[in-house]
Amino acid sequence: MLQVNELYVKYPKAKEHALSNINISFQKGEFICILGKSGAGKSTFIRCLNGLQRPTTGAVIWNDKDLSRLKEGQLRKVRVEMGMIFQHFNLIPRLSVFQNVLTGMFGKRSPWKNLFGIFSQEEKKLAISMIEHVDLVGHKDKRVEALSGGQKQRVAIARALLQNPKVFLGDEPVASLDPGTANRIFSLLQSLHNEYDLLTVINVHDVVLAKQYATRIIALKEGKVIFDDLPEKFTDEV
Ligand code: ADP
Ligand code: ADP
Repeated sequence: MLQVNELYVKYPKAKEHALSNINISFQKGEFICILGKSGAGKSTFIRCLNGLQRPTTGAVIWNDKDLSRLKEGQLRKVRVEMGMIFQHFNLIPRLSVFQNVLTGMFGKRSPWKNLFGIFSQEEKKLAISMIEHVDLVGHKDKRVEALSGGQKQRVAIARALLQNPKVFLGDEPVASLDPGTANRIFSLLQSLHNEYDLLTVINVHDVVLAKQYATRIIALKEGKVIFDDLPEKFTDEV
């Protein structure tokens, strides 16, 4: 479904490669956690999967297309198929939960509609059903800046789902949340993963969370894959 071939990434001023010779293929239905210490290359890797980061060499193949060869406009279409959530949520603080979730439509619509902020009744209904899905109905009209971290991440999840993605990517989505909240976010991600039949790939620091939720763990160290197997086989702290 999604395949990474001989991927290398080197940032312009860096001495070492951020990623070296990564070869991985992902299948629909897999819930993958990427483990590794800070600086291991997790964020660079996840951003390569949806073309936010271009590989120095190598290929990321999605539906027979090599993302590294696509133009920015074509990449935007690919990103609609890949919902993404981030450590710092990347919401618009002064807008309401409802307005933030509706921005998930932007990638799918014509630019003039976005310019005037016109949404159809159908789009609004869909946004509300996503807000119900992440259990935030009572907070629909609150500004997101007034919400807790866990609530903000649920807004971001609803926004990503509005794109109707086939792949769900997370770049340390629970790193700034307390353990209980982190666990509830993972549990939500797992149920959405099953309901929408997604491929889910998430960076996480916490080995316990990864072992609890992942169907497959990939561990990175200094830009290289040092483990790629079932969670129950993962023993060493990376
Ligand atoms: P992780 O997500 O595991 O913490 P990153 O992918 O952020 O790892 O970083 C991998 C390596 O690339 C690190 O050595 C980091 O310092 C370096 N790096 C990340 N982003 C940049 C950048 N924009 N410019 C230069 N070096 C970077
Ligand atoms: P958090 O506590 O979630 O990090 P922030 O206030 O830092 O919340 O904002 C989250 C993201 O939203 C940031 O990436 C910021 O750049 C972006 N952002 C903030 N205000 C606006 C705005 N008016 N329009 C677009 N993006 C914004």
